[in-house]
Amino acid sequence: MKLPLIGICRHRLATDGQGVTTLVAFHGCPLRCKYCLNSQCLRTDGIWCEMEMRDILGEVMVDDLYYKATSGGVVFGGGEPLLRSDGIVDFCNSRPMEWRIYIETSLNVERRHLEAVAPYVDHYYIDVKDMNPDIYHRYTSRSNRRVIGNLRWLAAHVDTGKVTIRLPHIPDYNTEQDMERSQQQLEAMGFKDFDRFQYITPNAE
Ligand code: SF4
Repeated sequence: MKLPLIGICRHRLATDGQGVTTLVAFHGCPLRCKYCLNSQCLRTDGIWCEMEMRDILGEVMVDDLYYKATSGGVVFGGGEPLLRSDGIVDFCNSRPMEWRIYIETSLNVERRHLEAVAPYVDHYYIDVKDMNPDIYHRYTSRSNRRVIGNLRWLAAHVDTGKVTIRLPHIPDYNTEQDMERSQQQLEAMGFKDFDRFQYITPNAE
């Protein structure tokens, strides 16, 4: 099956994951964030190309030596990569086992997608936005019920040392205090690694 992509980005260093990584970014996302930086993920005309997973594997294989020499690998992002969980599982079963697998996700997907990829993922980067359901809904136009359920599942089934939680300060939507409350809630679930940062909006100085 051909999968829609917004891009493949090679030779990434010190962004996410270890070593040299290639980002495979899928089209499509269940959220509608007000400050979406990848709005091509949401537009029907935003697809860069459509590829079979075996062709994506062939494309990223060109950097095989870099991944092996630096303990790097492939980052699946988007958009929401977990919507393509079947393809990611196929990819993981076919790639050289030395490659590490990273996922950048909002976790706002059905549980089955998370369960399918979990045996293969070396590290998760989870953009939870904000744990407060009202703030989350105002910012994404969606509920965070699935996010919270999936976080609980991860905390129970996966080493939380393999999880980085991204907590943004979202201008006009949350505050430092909201971020602190989110972090405390997540710490109570067992998560330990947090990346707190500021969204830069188009109107920011
Ligand atoms: S999760 Fe990312 S790609 Fe999806 S709408 Fe939000 S910012 Fe855009």
